[in-house]
Amino acid sequence: MIPAPSILWVRRDFRVSDNEALTAAAKDGPIIPVYFATTWSQNHHWTGPKRQHFLCECLASFDANLRTLGARLIIRHGDALSGLRSLIGETGAKAVHYQADPDPHGKKQESALALLCQDLGVELIRHYEVSIHEPDALETQSAQPYRVYTPFSKAWLALDKPSPIPKPKELHTPVDIASEALPTVNHWGLEKPDSQLLEAGERAARKRLKYALEHVVSGYSDQRDIPSVPGTSRLSQDLRFGLLSARTIHAAAADAHEHACAAARDGIFKFIKEIAWREFYIAILHHWPEVLDHEFNPDWRGLPWNEPDDKFELWKRGKTGFPIVDAGMRELLSTGYMHNRVRMITAMFLTKDLHHDWKLGESFFMQHLIDGEIASNNGGWQWSAGTGADAAPYFRIQNPWSQTKRYDPKGLYIKKWVPELKDVDAKLLLDPPEDDQPIADDYPLPCLDHKTERERTLAIFKKHKEQCC
Ligand SMILES: Cc1cc2nc3c(=O)[nH]c(=O)nc-3n(C[C@H](O)[C@H](O)[C@H](O)COP(=O)(O)OP(=O)(O)OC[C@H]3O[C@@H](n4cnc5c(N)ncnc54)[C@H](O)[C@@H]3O)c2cc1C
Repeated sequence: MIPAPSILWVRRDFRVSDNEALTAAAKDGPIIPVYFATTWSQNHHWTGPKRQHFLCECLASFDANLRTLGARLIIRHGDALSGLRSLIGETGAKAVHYQADPDPHGKKQESALALLCQDLGVELIRHYEVSIHEPDALETQSAQPYRVYTPFSKAWLALDKPSPIPKPKELHTPVDIASEALPTVNHWGLEKPDSQLLEAGERAARKRLKYALEHVVSGYSDQRDIPSVPGTSRLSQDLRFGLLSARTIHAAAADAHEHACAAARDGIFKFIKEIAWREFYIAILHHWPEVLDHEFNPDWRGLPWNEPDDKFELWKRGKTGFPIVDAGMRELLSTGYMHNRVRMITAMFLTKDLHHDWKLGESFFMQHLIDGEIASNNGGWQWSAGTGADAAPYFRIQNPWSQTKRYDPKGLYIKKWVPELKDVDAKLLLDPPEDDQPIADDYPLPCLDHKTERERTLAIFKKHKEQCC
C-alpha cells in the first residue's frame, strides 16, 4: 500500500540541499511541497517588484530542482490556512511539516495551523532553520534574552553548530494534485523590474558562496567597509530566501577558517561574526516583537519626528545633494541592494539630518531591498536611529562628508551610481561645495547643512531624555 503523503508547507526556504524539513517530510513516503501565493494587489506596504521578482525566480528554480529529484512544487493561490485545510482534505495527508518563521505574522499563522491540524487529526511537525540557533537557545546568566550584541555573539560562537544535511536522493509527489502555474510579479499586480537583478536560485547562491569563500572573506576585515569593491559576501538575499541555510554558510566558513593561513583567519572570523548579527536581530524580534511598532529603547518612544516632506522625496530618489547618500539610494533603486556601510549612512541621514521617523526608512528599504528581512532591517534602522538594541548612541552621528573621506575617498562608488558626478574632481565630493556653487550642472546643492542638523538632533534627543527620564 502507498503510504499517505506528507505536506511540506514551503514559506521562505527554496533549497533542496541542507533542508531539514524537506528531508524529514520525504522520509516515509510521498511529499507535497506547496507554496501559497497570497492575493494582495499592488501597493503592499512592505513589498516591491524587485524582491517579489526574485521570489518568483526562486520558486521556479526550486520547482526545477525538486523535479530533478522526482518531486514538484505545488502552487496554490490565496490564504495558506484555508489552502492547507483544502489540501489535507483532497490528499488525505497524514502530516504537515513547516519551517518556523521569525516574524510575528508568520508565528500567528503557525498558531492557527496548530489548531487546524489538531482539529483534523493531522500531525504537525515544526522545523527551525531560519537561523542556526533558536532564539531561545541563548540567554544571559540571569536567564534573560540578550540585549547587547557582543555578549550574545560570544555565547553564540560558543554553542556547537549542527552540520549540514545532505540533499535527499529521491523524492516523489503524487501526480494527481492540481497546481496553479508558477507565479510572476503580475500575480500581485506588479510590473517586472526593468533593471538586471542578481541571479536567483540555489545554484547561483552556491556559486556566490564559493566565490565569497575563495575571494572575499579572507580580506573581509579590510574590505568590508569599502562600498566600491566587492568586499562582502553578497549572500544576504540567499539567506533571506533560504537558497542557502545559515548552517551551510557557517560550516563552509568554519572549514575555510580552519584551513586558512594566519593572515586570512581574522577576515573569516569577522565574517562568521556577521552571521551572528543576523541571528541577534532575529532573537530581538522573537523576544520583543513590539520593535516593529516602537523604539526598542523605551527612552526614545515619542520622539518628535518631522512629517514626511519634499526632502524625504529627495532622499528616496537619491537627489539630496549629498553624493554618498544619493549614490546609496540609487544603488538601492537600481539593484535592490545597498552596501552595508552606505545603508548606515543613508539611514542616519534620514533620521539625524532630516529628522524623519526611522519607520519611514524601514518601510522604504523593505519595498526595495531584495534581501529585505524584517528582523535585520528593523535592527539596522533602529541601530542607525539610536533607538534600538545595542544601538549607536544618539550623539554618535555619522557625518556623510567624513564618511566619504574615509570609505570612498576617490569617489569610485559615488561616480558609479551618480553619473552626473563622473567627471567631477573626487576632491569636490569630500566636502560641502564652497560658495554655494553646484559641483556639476545637473547635480543639486546639498539640501541641508549637516552641522546645523546635527546640533538640532542633539538638542531634540537631549530634551526628550530630560522630559521622559
Ligand atoms: C538600515 C539597515 C537596513 C538593513 N536591512 C537589512 C535587510 O533588510 N536584510 C538583511 O539581510 N540585512 C540588512 N541589513 C544588514 C546588512 O546591511 C546586510 O546584511 C548586508 O549589507 C548584506 O550584504 P552581504 O551579504 O554582502 O553582507 P556580508 O557583509 O557579507 O555579511 C554576511 C551576512 O551576515 C549578515 N549580516 C551582515 N551584517 C549584518 C547586520 N548589520 N545586521 C544583520 N545581519 C547582518 C547578513 O545575513 C549577510 O549576508 C541592514 C543594515 C542597515 C544598516
